[in-house]
Amino acid sequence: MTPSTQHLALPFFDDVHRALAAGLVDWAAAQQVDETDDRAACREWVQLLGAGGWLRYCVPAAFGGALPRLDSRALVILRETLAFYSPLADFAFAMQGLGSGAITLAGTPAQQAAYLPHVASGKKIAAFALSEADAGSDAGAMTTSAVHTDKGWAINGTKTWISNGGIADFYVTFVKTEPDLGTRGITPFIVDADTPGLDASEHIAVMAPHPLATLAFNNCVVPGESQLGALNGGFKLAMQTLDIFRASVAAAALGMARRALAEAVNYSKHRSMFGGKLADFQLTQARLGEMAALVDAGALLTYRAAWLRDEGERTGNLVRVTSEAAMAKMTATENAQRVIDMALQMHGGLGVKVGTKVESLYRDIRSLRIYEGATEVQQLIIGKALLKG
Ligand SMILES: Cc1cc2nc3c(=O)[nH]c(=O)nc-3n(C[C@H](O)[C@H](O)[C@H](O)COP(=O)(O)OP(=O)(O)OC[C@H]3O[C@@H](n4cnc5c(N)ncnc54)[C@H](O)[C@@H]3O)c2cc1C
Repeated sequence: MTPSTQHLALPFFDDVHRALAAGLVDWAAAQQVDETDDRAACREWVQLLGAGGWLRYCVPAAFGGALPRLDSRALVILRETLAFYSPLADFAFAMQGLGSGAITLAGTPAQQAAYLPHVASGKKIAAFALSEADAGSDAGAMTTSAVHTDKGWAINGTKTWISNGGIADFYVTFVKTEPDLGTRGITPFIVDADTPGLDASEHIAVMAPHPLATLAFNNCVVPGESQLGALNGGFKLAMQTLDIFRASVAAAALGMARRALAEAVNYSKHRSMFGGKLADFQLTQARLGEMAALVDAGALLTYRAAWLRDEGERTGNLVRVTSEAAMAKMTATENAQRVIDMALQMHGGLGVKVGTKVESLYRDIRSLRIYEGATEVQQLIIGKALLKG
């Protein structure tokens, strides 16, 4: 089963994106990874994606990247295509970008040289540690803190829901450096996985393959050079990083929705019933029509958000795309959930049988409506922007 490429003809894309998509589809279709153990599978995907050259799209060309800057449309094509074949492959790809994004945006030349080429080759696995048990949507409520000492910054506290936790080589960790200042008192540090005082062994099992862990920091001392960006400027940096990757979460949802739609079309053409095929019935045709429109609505918002950001970078006329990225993330993930549910329903009992593609997609899609800003948070971002005028 291969994804349709019709959307690549849209004016949002350039030839560089079309060439990328063509090579990627052939590559992704040929990969086989046993995903029974999510951590081992994720490591393997990072190696494969690195060897295939695809991780080069996670960093700029100056540090081993494929393109001069992080290109949102390339990220969208990569995530959409990888998610069509394997949501775990998409996740492994995305985390290399999200985990290193703050280094690309605000790292010193020495930090960029030390980490980004290894992210691009797959030699180092990246992670982004912002959330805590009592600070998810409300990131400013985090309590993990860093205190300046003679030996460096001493970090204490607990992060949770950290993707790649336990397999990452480094964690871009956002902590309070001014505990009373809320979002204005946060600074990120690059914490290497082998730093004494960091324990990433507490694995969190979730409904779809996804390496996740809780990180315990117990007097974990990092040198001053591991501070990323301006002191207390971490919240803005986290939001800038998420601005880039939110539209790409939408793309991952889109890839899963496209796969579910393709599965539904294929199944309905072959499933015999009442002397014909499932696809012969108008109820089926109407449902497929609804699914296709939901997919395209998510797609157009996703491509718009990615194009707007790239265009701002290209012209130097940077516009905030927070609202457009929020619309894309909200619509594409919510629509994908509906499309996958409809595809599952069309498969009847087979839809819930473990091993059927729509069954795993049904589990894979769910967390995308929660992480990197839950749907309700996206609604608030869009609504507040409207009211600000
Ligand atoms: C699979 C997975 C991977 C993740 N990976 C990472 C990672 O790599 N790094 C990281 O830092 N975090 C990660 N997270 C954490 C994720 O970002 C948080 O789960 C998310 O931000 C929501 O926070 P929460 O779970 O604390 O829920 P809460 O913030 O407690 O939200 C609970 C509910 O309240 C709603 N809500 C929020 N604000 C409002 C409001 N103002 N009014 C009404 N309702 C509201 C939310 O939409 C949600 O429905 C991951 C989570 C998952 C599930």
